[in-house]
Amino acid sequence: MYTNLQTPIDYLKGVGPNRADLLRKELGIHTYQDLINLFPNRYLDRTRYYKINDLQRNSAEVQIIGVITGFKELPQKRGKLLVATFKDETGIMDLVWFRGHKWIRDSIKLNTKYVVFGKTNWFNGVFNMPHPEMELLEDHESNLRSAMQPIYPSTEKLTNKGITNRVVNNIMQQLFLETKGKFVETLPSSLLQELKLVSKSEGLFNIHFPKNQELLAKAQFRLKFEEFFYIQLQLIMKNLIHKSKIKGFTFENVGNYFNTFFKDHLPFDLTNAQKRVIKEIRADLGSNAQMNRLLQGDVGSGKTIVALMSMLIALDNDFQACLMAPTEILSVQHYNSLIELCNQLNISIKLLTGSSTTLERREIHKSLENGELQILIGTHALLEDKVKFKNLGLAIIDEQHRFGVAQRSKLWKKNTSPPHILVMTATPIPRTLAMSVYGDLDISIIDELPPGRQAIKTVHRYDKNRLKVLAFIRDEIKKGRQVYIVYPLIQESETMDYKDLMDGYASIERDFPKPEYQISIVHGKMKAADKDYEMQRFVKGETQIMVATTVIEVGVNVPNASVMVIESAERFGLSQLHQLRGRVGRGAEQSYCILMTSHKLSNDSKVRLETMTRTNDGFEIAEVDLRLRGPGDIMGTQQSGVLNLRIADVVKDKDILQSARYYAKKILNSDPSLANPEHKPILNTYKQLSKYKNIWNYIS
Ligand code: ADP
Ligand code: MG
Repeated sequence: MYTNLQTPIDYLKGVGPNRADLLRKELGIHTYQDLINLFPNRYLDRTRYYKINDLQRNSAEVQIIGVITGFKELPQKRGKLLVATFKDETGIMDLVWFRGHKWIRDSIKLNTKYVVFGKTNWFNGVFNMPHPEMELLEDHESNLRSAMQPIYPSTEKLTNKGITNRVVNNIMQQLFLETKGKFVETLPSSLLQELKLVSKSEGLFNIHFPKNQELLAKAQFRLKFEEFFYIQLQLIMKNLIHKSKIKGFTFENVGNYFNTFFKDHLPFDLTNAQKRVIKEIRADLGSNAQMNRLLQGDVGSGKTIVALMSMLIALDNDFQACLMAPTEILSVQHYNSLIELCNQLNISIKLLTGSSTTLERREIHKSLENGELQILIGTHALLEDKVKFKNLGLAIIDEQHRFGVAQRSKLWKKNTSPPHILVMTATPIPRTLAMSVYGDLDISIIDELPPGRQAIKTVHRYDKNRLKVLAFIRDEIKKGRQVYIVYPLIQESETMDYKDLMDGYASIERDFPKPEYQISIVHGKMKAADKDYEMQRFVKGETQIMVATTVIEVGVNVPNASVMVIESAERFGLSQLHQLRGRVGRGAEQSYCILMTSHKLSNDSKVRLETMTRTNDGFEIAEVDLRLRGPGDIMGTQQSGVLNLRIADVVKDKDILQSARYYAKKILNSDPSLANPEHKPILNTYKQLSKYKNIWNYIS
């Protein structure tokens, strides 16, 4: 009944081996199915007809009905220009050709109605349209198919080898002929009815051959919904399978470590948000399913203590725990805070990073394997094969967005059965994005800052106001505060940036001379030991100013630092600016963030600066960032695969995403194995999708 869509594309009439080869190489089209999923990038709307006196000087492509009343030739420097006078009932314009004059003169009928289509220019007081597409009005009317002209993705090579948009359009028509335009329905009829979705066949037809905007919009809605629906279904299914199939370690006891710490050593009262999140984690750890949880909390919201208390639960159940951070500085900082927090608890904690000595490593390996070592903190070094735990029960990853999914799964394999996983991030991820990228994780949010924090005051200053800024810094230092001055080092290897930093350092040294002022400097080209030394001087308050690159972006905690100056702030992205600002405002004092820029600012930079000075809310900032940069950029390349959508757009279609997630959840909740006959289309599609590694290429 249905054509097998796995048929190789070579078999489609009009394709043949050469074209098939090109389609495979250039667009990854192997089968009928792939071709049908080649959705147009855009459409030329040829449903609308313009009048000549409607034309705007910035007109895009327009379509006009009129007649040609005559030709003239204009000599140019090289060759001649053929100009036709084109008229409708509202005005006159020119049609212009640089080539093919004879053919055009021979084939065009004067004073006969044509539909012309193309881009218009305004020149010497008249509109002209170079090399218009032309069709007799009579033919045009009998040819409805061209009403909304799809423009397909293409490559230079395809066009050069003659596979033009028209050719793609033709083979697409051929495909619909051969399949009779009948495609297996992939959504249950209840859903189609409830959401008033068009059928699969109708959706596909109208995405490729829409007669008008309305039909196109319906087709797009249906296909976008479907795309999101199956991604969500897969993610939620994965989560359910985790919970039912993958036995986690059940941490039954909350024992001595946790209780002692909670009663006697907690350095402050937990915020309500921290309490709630610890309860959520506690519930996961106590169930017999493996935890896979994302903990989101703005900078300074106090995730470290949550991490520690979760680890203590693991220890109470005789398991080991580890905490992995993306940079050495941050690992060291975590190590120091945990050592301090736990100093009364008699727990063995070690640090493993790229700069651990062979001797240290050997000891760590040994004590990990025999179980003496309870908590291991470190960088990627934790992932090395040599690092073997006796009994890893909980793995925590800080700043998840710096790590890929692959690294997350590598931690899994550190034990015979997977440890519980807690992923922490201070870069707030917009809800919609979190859904699509981390849909397989449960999410906890710390949405409350510890009490007594004052909102950081953020201002934007131009370079010419530098003297005032310097005076302000001096005042703050006089009050006993410390100051960060950060330079962009987008790529640690960029010599230009490096020079900026060193020049900046030299001028700060002139403005803040020794011995009155002491300055630390930290950048990516320094040895770890030197970085650490400089950091420590600042942490201890021996230096008042820290000149740094973005290496200090993540995690660094110096509560006495109250001023963050960001040089060339227009060069930083929003999330980076927000992270940097989060380095101050950690103590009780009023803190400031000063964004220094030159006068030349792009529109995006202006939006970023305006956003930063307007709000401290990380989630709001993340939404703006998502709008400015798009999802792929935000999540980094490792995760962009998930966002490599065919038709839907995480930003623009977030309502559809939300609804798709809602229905996917609802259906799986009521029928987790999709056994209900009504859900048969879902089950079949799901099974088909699971066969392919990259499911997103096969949503059909
Ligand atoms: P982040 O979420 O950015 O990792 P941290 O865990 O580093 O935040 O906490 C930031 C600072 O706030 C630390 O100095 C920490 O000791 C302090 N802190 C955390 N929770 C609380 C709380 N409930 N009350 C007071 N201070 C807290
Ligand atoms: Mg942190």
